[in-house]
Amino acid sequence: MTVAAVIVDVPTMQTNRPFEYEIPEELSDVVVPGMRVEVGFGRGKRKIQGFVMEVKDHSEFSGKLKPIIRVIDVKPVLSPEMIKLSYWLADRTYAFQISCLQTMLPNVMRAKYKQFIQAAVGFEDDPEVKDLLNDHLVVELTNDTTDSTIRKIAHLKKLNKLDVEYVVENQANSLTRQAVTTKLTIEQLKDKRQNLRSNAKAQFKLYDFLIEHLKDLPIETSEFENKFHITRPTLKTAEKNQIIEYVEVTKRRKPVGIIPEKQSIPELTDEQTAAVQMINDSVDNNEAQTFLIEGVTGSGKTEVYLQTIQKAIENGQTALMLVPEISLTPQMVNRVIGRFGNQVAVLHSGLSSGERYDEWTRIEDGSVKVVVGARSAVFAPLTNIGVIIIDEEHEASYKQDDNPRYHARDVAKWRSEYNSCPLVLGSATPSLESRARAEKGVYKLIYMKKRINDHPLPHVQIVDMRDAENSATKGDFSPLLQDNIWRALKRKEQAIVLLNRRGYSSFLMCRECGFVLKCPNCDVSLTYHKNLGKMKCHYCGHEEPVPHICPNCKSKKIGFYGTGTENIEKQLNELFPEARVLRMDVDTTRKKGSHAAIIKKFGNHEADILLGTQMIAKGLDFPDVTLVGVVNADTTLSISDYRASERTFQLLTQVSGRAGRADKEGHVIIQTYNPDHYAIRDAAKQDYETFFKQEMYLRHQSGYTPYYFTTLISVAHQDEGQAMKQSYWLKKQLEGVLSDSAKLLGPSPTMISRKQNKYFYQIIVKYKRESNLHQKLLEILSDTQAETKKGFTIAIDNEPQHID
Ligand code: ADP
Ligand code: ZN
Ligand code: ZN
Repeated sequence: MTVAAVIVDVPTMQTNRPFEYEIPEELSDVVVPGMRVEVGFGRGKRKIQGFVMEVKDHSEFSGKLKPIIRVIDVKPVLSPEMIKLSYWLADRTYAFQISCLQTMLPNVMRAKYKQFIQAAVGFEDDPEVKDLLNDHLVVELTNDTTDSTIRKIAHLKKLNKLDVEYVVENQANSLTRQAVTTKLTIEQLKDKRQNLRSNAKAQFKLYDFLIEHLKDLPIETSEFENKFHITRPTLKTAEKNQIIEYVEVTKRRKPVGIIPEKQSIPELTDEQTAAVQMINDSVDNNEAQTFLIEGVTGSGKTEVYLQTIQKAIENGQTALMLVPEISLTPQMVNRVIGRFGNQVAVLHSGLSSGERYDEWTRIEDGSVKVVVGARSAVFAPLTNIGVIIIDEEHEASYKQDDNPRYHARDVAKWRSEYNSCPLVLGSATPSLESRARAEKGVYKLIYMKKRINDHPLPHVQIVDMRDAENSATKGDFSPLLQDNIWRALKRKEQAIVLLNRRGYSSFLMCRECGFVLKCPNCDVSLTYHKNLGKMKCHYCGHEEPVPHICPNCKSKKIGFYGTGTENIEKQLNELFPEARVLRMDVDTTRKKGSHAAIIKKFGNHEADILLGTQMIAKGLDFPDVTLVGVVNADTTLSISDYRASERTFQLLTQVSGRAGRADKEGHVIIQTYNPDHYAIRDAAKQDYETFFKQEMYLRHQSGYTPYYFTTLISVAHQDEGQAMKQSYWLKKQLEGVLSDSAKLLGPSPTMISRKQNKYFYQIIVKYKRESNLHQKLLEILSDTQAETKKGFTIAIDNEPQHID
């Protein structure tokens, strides 16, 4: 008898313990680890889903085992690597293994879906396949599909003669898609192209594309949009002019040949050469070495990434590249696609779950060599990885806020070890954790100190907003910033204006002296709690009244202030009526594709000023931007987080790096009420190393990362008294195992305490080495499973990225 160890999905009773089930004879060579199965659970007839973790030839259990009811997948959906990773991930993030396993799969497999099988390309006439499909094109797999049929399917799937499709249930017609084709010949297309109006840019692009890809047609409409950036309206126009027509196609496996643009690969600078050499040696030697590239903005890090990816591909391996957010980094993505064309899969949030599944399949079956994506792409089912890259490694978005609370950097590190390949972290402003690890020699540090072609770093000026002249100015633009915008406009260059919105809602500051109210115990800013009408510390719970006079300079100009991007836009329009302003914030980027559209417009010089929030700070590379203005540098300083200075430094350095990237010199104006703050001063000098030393000193003084580990535990309940009581119980539990050198802060109620109609209390543990803590936390997690029934929820967050 063979037995499967299965991790089951029972939301009310989570556990990391696998349950054993008997594998029916008929399915004995079908069931393998990584497959999902349906099994019975508990006494009744309840059927649930589970993941097969292991197949064994006998059971330790003496009683009678229940059998597996049916297999859900005909082939494993998780590789041995992912199965192994799930154990580590569950342990590391205090999550249940089932949620880790589910996180690794594309969405469609978590929703209600249908499964279909069809012949793989080239096997339509295979006798076995024809026999199985019974002359149908597509056959649905259902609960009633017999074990012997499943067995045949699994067999043919193993031979790659069949394709399995997962289709979300409520997406009708998903197996056929709209596609574009043409009846015209190349000559006819070329003729018609000549008659286009010269300003019909989009049409030109479409015609050129059709001419180049005539043999690939029909091509799915969605591919036009997602891969080639030819929009639906453009296609509509062409349809009206009888250039193209729409047809229905069944889903095709064969991806359309994106022909890489003929990018001229630049000759590397000395710094780039050295970096590439070091990393590529590691690729060649299959070393699980982590590199940290500390490279100033515009030093050419991307080219280094591309060449190491190239190396991995040459060695017959694959590459994984993470970026903070795809929609914010279209230029980067285009460069990767431009270089490697068809071999790239881009996983971005704009994909529908069907499209995401398609990409996942392409990766899984090995048609893709390079994956580019945001955080969750770290679980891309690549095998034989040759290099992993994390660009802008300091970004908080690499940490997931929800279960499992993983940091993509940690997962990447794990995969680099599993695959014996290097991990490359890159940033102009590395996280303190990473930089400290490089200091200790755990990571290899690679400096890139020069900009490409020796372009100087931008010239940065700090404007002291406390000055009489500035405080007398109406509005948010100092005379110096106004003057510089005016000059850039006059020279027909472009400007980027940043309105810093981080920490905005609770921002209390003295406009006379720049004072920000801090917690006397924790060295973090206090946060305004509207419902209490008080200032509060998120770490220890300390609270005090809202000051009406500045405790520092006795001025009455202390208070909350802040303007929205719309207001700033209005001011810009009034000050510079001739200038064309583009605004990029949450309001103007709600629609899918709107980020890219704004960025493109600005790149095409259809605007003079790009005004935006944090989202304009990173990755953008516009040669004509010579001025960057920061309206308010300070708000980030007031976030109630020990990383406030680090976040401020990162943001200012990143945004400054947008100026002067090509031949024209760059200029940056930073407006602030805290001109002497080291984070602002060092950012102005683009001096990461000085900042690093100062910040490390302060972290040491106040006992934060990277000197101490931080774990955040939060308790929630609908009844406030219960939440509080439970959090004190928790504190006591922890006190029982912690040594004297650990610090326990809280419990304190959190800011958005009534979200989901629940009250939240949190405890922060800061520690260096606590041999019993991990085990205790796992115990608490499993204990609270019983408590969950009473409405408690508990969350344990290792190294939280922000505390609020
Ligand atoms: P970073 O990622 O470090 O900010 P990028 O990789 O975006 O810098 O490079 C900045 C600019 O320099 C880009 O426009 C890029 O195409 C160009 N570039 C990179 N390497 C070279 C090189 N070796 N020679 C010429 N131009 C280069
Ligand atoms: Zn003051
Ligand atoms: Zn405090």
